[in-house]
Amino acid sequence: MKNIFIFDTTLRDGEQSPGVSLNVKEKIALARQLAKLGVDCIEAGFPIASPGDFEAVRAVSQSVEGPIIAGLARTSEADIKRAWEALKNAERPRIHTFIATSPIHMKHKLKKTPDEVLKSAVDAVKLASSLTEDVEFSAEDAFRSELNYLCELFEAVIAAGAKTINIPDTVGYATPWEFGEFIKAIRERVPNIDQAAISVHCHNDLGMAVANSLAAINNGATQVEVTVNGIGERAGNASLEELVMALYTRRNYLKADTNVNKGEIYRASKLVSTLTGMLIQPNKAIVGKNAFVHESGIHQDGVLKERETYEIMNPAMIGVPGNNIFLGKHSGRHAFKMHLKDLGYDFEGEVLDKAFKSFKELCDNKKIVLDEDIIALIDTEALKGPETYQFSYLNVSSGTNIVSTATVGVNVNGVLYEQAAIAKGPVEATYAAINSIVKQEFILEEYAINSVTSGRDAQGEVVVKASYQGKSFTGRGISVDVIESSARAYLNAINKALNMTKNYSSEKAEGM
Ligand SMILES: [Zn+2]
Repeated sequence: MKNIFIFDTTLRDGEQSPGVSLNVKEKIALARQLAKLGVDCIEAGFPIASPGDFEAVRAVSQSVEGPIIAGLARTSEADIKRAWEALKNAERPRIHTFIATSPIHMKHKLKKTPDEVLKSAVDAVKLASSLTEDVEFSAEDAFRSELNYLCELFEAVIAAGAKTINIPDTVGYATPWEFGEFIKAIRERVPNIDQAAISVHCHNDLGMAVANSLAAINNGATQVEVTVNGIGERAGNASLEELVMALYTRRNYLKADTNVNKGEIYRASKLVSTLTGMLIQPNKAIVGKNAFVHESGIHQDGVLKERETYEIMNPAMIGVPGNNIFLGKHSGRHAFKMHLKDLGYDFEGEVLDKAFKSFKELCDNKKIVLDEDIIALIDTEALKGPETYQFSYLNVSSGTNIVSTATVGVNVNGVLYEQAAIAKGPVEATYAAINSIVKQEFILEEYAINSVTSGRDAQGEVVVKASYQGKSFTGRGISVDVIESSARAYLNAINKALNMTKNYSSEKAEGM
């Protein structure tokens, strides 16, 4: 059985998904979950892209134990030094440097000759190797690069000290047969290939990222770059959960497996979805709501008699929670703290107080509080960044054939600001009232509502996307009252926009 090394780039490539912007607190929470999930390497960000990215990579390097922590850098000296600065306190740091090698990228984007690109790559790997032993080199747009040139370049960077060579299908153009052949050709033609691990990084533009990664594994790749829920640029990256479960479920045929702790998959998927605001399609393989639901009578009957008639995997294995009751309204602070610990949250002091207060409020509004309710509440509320505008209260009147009126109270530095507005519907009126408090131009681009559990008193989770100065920001809010969730989500997007525009840079969108 070959062991496949899982390189997770949810925090780097995944965070490049349109409209996604995570704060440092959220990135650390996610990195900790990835460590629990047992990925071998976490790519925490692209340190030179912005001060926010730098800070996140530094914080993850300092506080997350277990996996290798990687930071992305172009081949320039400034990029590599900045990446090292952010990574140097990690237990096991890795510098990941890259440059494009396809004719179209070299000519139009880099405006460099193939020789110049090769020299840049070798110099970068030498510099990175002088800082740390663990250096990965990526040839951006490798699949559309000229094979002989690519082999020559890989030979040179391995000689310069690269321990992993990564072969991305940056634009998601490959099919499994071709991609497998491509990897095989590189493995056969690069003379010193035994001194480096072969990695692949597949995009999902044609829906083949996981299939292409598997084809690569079949032909000698030992590392795959993936993201949780397959998020990433455009149609996203190869999905971690699909790849891991495909390897595990078909291990007898594929002869390969991973170190991933499969029981943490569902939790990781939920957390990524909550933090990024990217909802999971119901029919998504492995983690979609319907992935293990049998609708047809014949199927249901079969599964009841013998699970394996229609199920190739057991949902309990990936950690899908049962309907566990969290705690009742009379539970005390200590019991609450201990139960949170079982769910993976180790809270103390002020954070614990805040979470306990939210739990008590929820008990007043919802008859049965499930584990899932608490997880959703905490992931939404406890990981918020600094809030310039804090939700205080909401008063709405609406109905059939009447104009909706909303009065909203928002705390700003301890001072309560109140505004009222009218509109056709209650959400519109609420947002108009918030706009007149905030007095800045935010444009609502997307609005989605989802119930956390089933039942009439379920909590409603609202995810909004609002644009500010031409950039999109995702916000989320949760409450048993969906208008309140809407107000909280909108304020969350506004706070995020104001925090993030401070340290935003136009270079953020670069990468493979
Ligand atoms: Zn990519």
